[in-house]
Amino acid sequence: MPSARTTQPITASDASIRAALDDAFLPALLPALAQATGDYAILRDDLRPPGVAPGISQGGMSPGQQAAAREVAFAAIRKLRDEGPGGESLPLPEAVRRISAWMTGSAASDDYIPLLLEELAPEGEDPRAPGWRKPPGTPFSVAIIGAGMSGILAAIRLRQAGVPFVILEKNADVGGTWLENTYPGARVDVSNAFYSYSFAQRTDWPKHYSTQDVLLDYFRDVAQEFGIREHVRFNTEVVEASWDEAGTSWRLRMRTPDGSEETLEAQAVISAVGQLNRPLMPEIQGMETFAGPSFHSARWDHSVNLRGKRVVVIGTGASAAQFIPAIAPEVADLTVFQRTPPWLVPVPHYHDDVPDGLRWLFGHIPHYVHWYRFWLFWNTTDGMLAAATVDEDWAPRDVSVSAANDQLRALLTGYLRTQFADRPDLMEKCLPKYPPAAKRLVLDNGTWAATLKRENVRVVSDGIREVTASGVVAGDRVEYPADVIIYGTGFQASKFLTPMRVTGRGGADLHAQWDGDARAYMGITVPRFPNLFLLYGPNTNIVVNGSIIYFSECEVRYVLGCIKLLLDEGKRALDCRQEVHDAYNERIDRANLQRVWGVSDVSSWYKNDRGRVAQNWPFNLIEYWRQTKEPDPGDYVLV
Ligand SMILES: Cc1cc2nc3c(=O)[nH]c(=O)nc-3n(C[C@H](O)[C@H](O)[C@H](O)COP(=O)(O)OP(=O)(O)OC[C@H]3O[C@@H](n4cnc5c(N)ncnc54)[C@H](O)[C@@H]3O)c2cc1C
Repeated sequence: MPSARTTQPITASDASIRAALDDAFLPALLPALAQATGDYAILRDDLRPPGVAPGISQGGMSPGQQAAAREVAFAAIRKLRDEGPGGESLPLPEAVRRISAWMTGSAASDDYIPLLLEELAPEGEDPRAPGWRKPPGTPFSVAIIGAGMSGILAAIRLRQAGVPFVILEKNADVGGTWLENTYPGARVDVSNAFYSYSFAQRTDWPKHYSTQDVLLDYFRDVAQEFGIREHVRFNTEVVEASWDEAGTSWRLRMRTPDGSEETLEAQAVISAVGQLNRPLMPEIQGMETFAGPSFHSARWDHSVNLRGKRVVVIGTGASAAQFIPAIAPEVADLTVFQRTPPWLVPVPHYHDDVPDGLRWLFGHIPHYVHWYRFWLFWNTTDGMLAAATVDEDWAPRDVSVSAANDQLRALLTGYLRTQFADRPDLMEKCLPKYPPAAKRLVLDNGTWAATLKRENVRVVSDGIREVTASGVVAGDRVEYPADVIIYGTGFQASKFLTPMRVTGRGGADLHAQWDGDARAYMGITVPRFPNLFLLYGPNTNIVVNGSIIYFSECEVRYVLGCIKLLLDEGKRALDCRQEVHDAYNERIDRANLQRVWGVSDVSSWYKNDRGRVAQNWPFNLIEYWRQTKEPDPGDYVLV
């Protein structure tokens, strides 16, 4: 796998460099070149990209700025080619400060320096690696449940620390989400420069937003390269985990490939079972009477040929928004039942290949991928948080929650108006009546409107009355005949760790303790469940299209810190203090009520049945990085 930490020397001709620059993403290229040449004067004020706004190409740089930036970049690349790297004319922290201030135009950028220094480590270094090893002879072993993105990551770090581990995986392969979601059109909606491990970046992603097959290959390759596969017991589902107080260890009961049960002991358990692994089927009267095939998008039945069929799709969430455009051209007739329309964020290059020139630049300009990653980080998440923040004085709150949120609404409404200019009937159905970012935003390059406008597609927004043997009856009693029904109804996101039974100290039952309202300290540890660590646990999901990989990297570092703490102190187990957990959760709840997804009453998978936001992290990304750098021993009882 070509690594972004080993860029190639530049030997290209002037003409080839100019051609590559046609494809460059300039707001991140100038910073990379400033760093590589040591000439920070190229970060001219008049070339600064104006700032954060979704879907605007080149960060909103004007054509004049772009042309000037290309000239500056051309000169810098030639200099790199002819004279080699310019060395550090500034100490790295100062260089990073200047660059990030130029990119974000924000006084807050200073906060990001330590994070950026970690991300911009010299070639070949992996600053998030544990940097310590378990002393030989000290008994300590870990069982990881799940071999998706998070489980693989945990395994890599444990291996680097010399801590023995096993991964128990119910599927026949690694990859989790990207193994199971094989529906047509499945792809990531975070650009891959950000949706990839910080220590295993690629300079040669074929597309900006990879399709499922490419992502699955990526996770398979990483698992292979880091020697993880041989530690996985495939087709093995953990059904129960119980804490053995006397032995200070976990006992896992699991169903093995031949259907028999087995138990396994480990000092610590890392649950990497995902938030979006168990499909959610709706409860609709008559569902079981439908005579044709029906399936959930995460269990796509590829044996069902949709060509020429009448298909009913239930749901218009993130998965449905991907597979509906993919299947519409081949089916005879497509009825889409929509409860709540999604807000669409215009991303013109959503389905595009990474152009050759840009790929060449990623492969030859040191740190270009990293600065591109920071640009995405800032522009798609932390820089966007203001637009999701509630202004207490803003009223009414039904369609927006602050001036910035309203501005975003106006921008996205304008996009919908251009998309549905010729179809006022669809505009009426597709214009959300809730504030943007209250639900997951859906990226779009024009295919959503083009699909809904097709002659063989109709949108029904009158609710569902029942499913019959031959179709689906809408709220207004009109029946839509179907040969196939596809459920795009999402996942049991708030039922963390189900259907496993988990018992902790004194026989405490995790699901009884949570009582439908899962909580954890840092999203990772739960009082009375010593040495149980959750990855992608409660309140670690990011709304404004950030990358879950970033969160998992923070979580895994914290977990490794906890294990190190135990080994250093010669202790066997750590248990989160209840008061620490409660105070943290109060802070999370308060903050989520200051975000649009917390105050809006639109239905979304971000809230559990109690109405609490149990999924989302309410602060910016850097805050999670800071909090999870290492555990505070005072937060735990060590035994
Ligand atoms: C369609 C779809 C699109 C997504 N797009 C994005 C995106 O664009 N950006 C983003 O950041 N995130 C996205 N996500 C979220 C995605 O889930 C995470 O990015 C990431 O893949 C989570 O990895 P994970 O390892 O934590 O969980 P998962 O990938 O869900 O893996 C969990 C693993 O645990 C295994 N497992 C579960 N229970 C047991 C058990 N009891 N015993 C043994 N094994 C078990 C499962 O089989 C699975 O392999 C998307 C999710 C879906 C479903």
